[in-house]
Amino acid sequence: MLHLADNLNRLGTETAFEVLARAAALSAQGKDIINLGIGQPDFKTPQHIVEAAIKALRDGHHGYTPSNGIEPLRVAVAADLHRRHAVEVDPGNVVIMPGGKPTMFFAILMFGQPGAEIMYPDPGFPIYRSMIQYTGATAVPIALKEQNGFSFSADEVLAQITPRTSLIIVNTPGNPTGGAVPESEIKKLVAGLARHPNVAIMADEIYSQMLYDGAEHVSFLRYPEIRDRLIILDGWSKTYAMTGWRLGFSVWPKDLVEKVVRLNVNCHSCVNAPTQFAGIAALEGPQDAVHTMVKAFDERQRVIVGLLNQLPGVTCVNPGGAFYAFPNITGTGLSAKELQNAMLEKAGVATVAGTSFGIHGEGYVRFSYANSVDNIRKAIERIGTLLLDLKT
Ligand code: PLP
Repeated sequence: MLHLADNLNRLGTETAFEVLARAAALSAQGKDIINLGIGQPDFKTPQHIVEAAIKALRDGHHGYTPSNGIEPLRVAVAADLHRRHAVEVDPGNVVIMPGGKPTMFFAILMFGQPGAEIMYPDPGFPIYRSMIQYTGATAVPIALKEQNGFSFSADEVLAQITPRTSLIIVNTPGNPTGGAVPESEIKKLVAGLARHPNVAIMADEIYSQMLYDGAEHVSFLRYPEIRDRLIILDGWSKTYAMTGWRLGFSVWPKDLVEKVVRLNVNCHSCVNAPTQFAGIAALEGPQDAVHTMVKAFDERQRVIVGLLNQLPGVTCVNPGGAFYAFPNITGTGLSAKELQNAMLEKAGVATVAGTSFGIHGEGYVRFSYANSVDNIRKAIERIGTLLLDLKT
C-alpha cells in the first residue's frame, strides 16, 4: 500500500471531461454525436496571434521568463483592463498564469485550511468546490437561483459570512448558467463587505467579454474599497479562443503578489515565452475576431433559447453571457443525469447535467452553444423526438 495523502480523496473533478470521453467513444463507434457539452469556443485562435507566437519562437524566446510574466504582457493587461473597465491597475499587481484555473487553485490554497470557510457559487465551476475540499476548508455554497437570473443574492451571501469565512468566490458571467450578476447586486455585496474587512473575494471574470443584448460587464475592479482583498481571474482562453494555449492573467492585492509568485515558482516557474508574446498580440492587435465570435454566440443564444423553450417539459431563461444555456428540465420528469444520459445515448447529443456543477444544479442541464446554428437546430430536433418517445 502506498502512503498517499488523505486530501487526494477529497479532490473532485470536472465531469464535463467524462461526458466528452463518452461522446468521443460513441463517435469512434460511428455514432453521429453533436457536442453541446464542451466549454470552449468552436473558433480558431485569430491568425495574427498565432503568428506572434511563431515569431517569438523564431526570435529565440525559448527560455524561462520572470515568474509573474514578461513586463510588456503585464503592461498590456493593465492597459486592456483600463480600456474595458476604466480602472487603473498597476502592472506590478498583474500575474500571468498558465490559464484561468491556476488563479483559482492558488487563491483557494492561500485561503483554504481546516477551520476556514470558503463560499462558492452553486451551480458553479466544479473546481471551486473540489479545491476548497482539498485544502480541508468547509465549502459553503452560494445558491444561484433561476428566479434571480442565476445571479447571487448579495443579502444571502452576506448572511452566510461567519468569523471563519476567509474567501468568497463569485463568477460573472457564470458557468454553467450564463447568468450575469447585475451591478445593483455587486454594489450591495461590496457595501456589505465593509463590515467584514477580513474576508477576501475572488472574482472569476473569464467570460467578461461574452455578454449579450448590449449588456456590459461590471468588473469587481471598479470598487476601490475592496481592492486590498480582491483577486481577479481572467484570461485569453474564452475571449480569444485560446483554451489550449494555457494563458491567463490575474490581478492581486499588493500584499499577496509576492505570495502568489512564490506559488508560481514552486509550481510551474512561468508560462512558456512564445505564448506570452501571443498574449500581447491578442490584447494589442485588432479585436474584430472577438466581436465576430461574440456576435455569433449572441445569435446562437437566441436560437437555442427559443428552441429549448419549445421542448415539452423544458423552460429556459435568457442567459446573460458566456456561451451556455441552462434550461429547467423538471417538466420532463427526469433527473438531470437521466436526461443527460438519454440525450447522449439515444439522441446523440452531448450536454452536461446541472448536478455536475453542484447540488443546486438538479433539474437543469447545461447546453453549450459553442457549435454551429445548424448543429444546434439538429440537436434540439433530436431531443424533441426523444422527449416525445419517452412519453409514449
Ligand atoms: N473559470 C470558469 C468559470 C470556467 O468556466 C473555466 C473554464 O471552463 C475556467 C475558469 C478555466 O479557464 P482556463 O481554461 O483558462 O483554465
